[in-house]
Amino acid sequence: MIDQRHLRVALLGAGSVGSQVASLLLQHGDELADRAGATLELVGIAVRDVDAPRDVDLPVELLTTDAEALILGADIVIELMGGIEPARGYLLEAINSGADVVTANKALLATHGPVIFDAADQVGAQVYYEASVAGAIPIIRPLRDSLAGDRVQRIMGIVNGTTNFILDKMDAEHLTLEAALAEATALGYAEADPTADIGGYDAAQKAAILAGLAFHTTVPLEAVHREGITEIDKSMIDAARKAGYVVKLLAVCERLLEAGEEAISVRVYPALVDRKHPLASVHGANNAVFVQAEAAGDLMFYGAGAGGIQTASAVLGDVVSAARRHVAGGVGVAESTRANLPILPIGHVSTRYQITLEVADQTGVLATIAGILSDGGVSVATVEQTTAAGVDGAPTARLVIGTHTAREQDLSDTVDHLAASDVVTRVASVLRVEGSN
Ligand code: NAP
Repeated sequence: MIDQRHLRVALLGAGSVGSQVASLLLQHGDELADRAGATLELVGIAVRDVDAPRDVDLPVELLTTDAEALILGADIVIELMGGIEPARGYLLEAINSGADVVTANKALLATHGPVIFDAADQVGAQVYYEASVAGAIPIIRPLRDSLAGDRVQRIMGIVNGTTNFILDKMDAEHLTLEAALAEATALGYAEADPTADIGGYDAAQKAAILAGLAFHTTVPLEAVHREGITEIDKSMIDAARKAGYVVKLLAVCERLLEAGEEAISVRVYPALVDRKHPLASVHGANNAVFVQAEAAGDLMFYGAGAGGIQTASAVLGDVVSAARRHVAGGVGVAESTRANLPILPIGHVSTRYQITLEVADQTGVLATIAGILSDGGVSVATVEQTTAAGVDGAPTARLVIGTHTAREQDLSDTVDHLAASDVVTRVASVLRVEGSN
């Protein structure tokens, strides 16, 4: 019998994800050892408070508040504390002491990824982060390895389960945003402070990570255009349904041509998705990432975007990969950022739009609006009109205008002109249409 390598694994954090990782490592140690080609010894678990209640029972002798001591001498360090510091410092210490690291920390990677990847590159260590985007769904490895020989053109991802749950409830059960958010909070999908989710911040961090991998370019978080779902109301969801769409918070990462040169766009916003598009059938708190690659065509990755045990699956996959690399020897593979494509501001992006206007119900209005749109270079594809009694009982028409593909800057200037026009009472909403351009 060949002697197996023995690898020391340090775990930082035993919360929702960490406690499940520890439990699975302890339960399935023998099986994981067979897959990894090395025994994996969980040498300790760093926490803030060793007496805090845990989701699962863990051996108390493994718990410690001394993360630094744990890191020294570990072959693999798993960081599941979250936040920027001290997670960043601990990861750098682990890398510099020769360990491979596994993390699910999207906030850290989206803001300090280059520092961590450079440090790993310097010493030949490897950083694994499958769980940082879309929880249990394998998407980092497919982008990094499986599609490394292809050219990704576009990614559209539902990468935030909380907002998908809220928008899905609003669509299916006609709830207001507030009522759907309250339900998400009661079920534990939303944090007490839901800003990171409903403001689109969490999705923007994931978009930066996905775009970086897909386009071999460092994508700073500041370069990601971000809009959340806070402005989405029941009337927009109802209008979307009537027009055959569903509203989804999308992370869109796209390869574009700007003056004949390749560039990319990375953006997060609520968008209208055709109800026949595969992303429209992503319900509840699930996530999905739709990838369009030059040779592979359309691919969709779907599943649980969060959850302790689900996310632990992705973390353990990384642990096995790290163990295999240790057994095989050699240096880690550096992150590929060589393409270094320019990142375009939102104004340069082209897509289709749906503009909803409240206008005075009188003759000539439609012609005036058509003139403003045409002057702005925005071509109209569809117009739907309904009439209702408006303020003071004066009849008001509601116009829902679908446009052909237009440049965001032209559209935004045109909407300003519409808002300033005498015939427009209110610009009720402007939503992008994605997935059917
Ligand atoms: P969590 O439940 O808040 O757990 C954090 C753990 O880290 C706790 O055990 C805490 O110790 C420990 N910790 C925090 N600061 C520490 C410090 N300074 N020193 C030592 N220990 C410290 O977090 P989580 O939900 O498991 O998330 C962990 C990571 O996974 C985050 O980066 C998150 O974004 C990512 N992630 C989570 C999910 C999910 O479904 N939860 C999905 C995908 C990715 P105490 O227990 O003593 O307080």
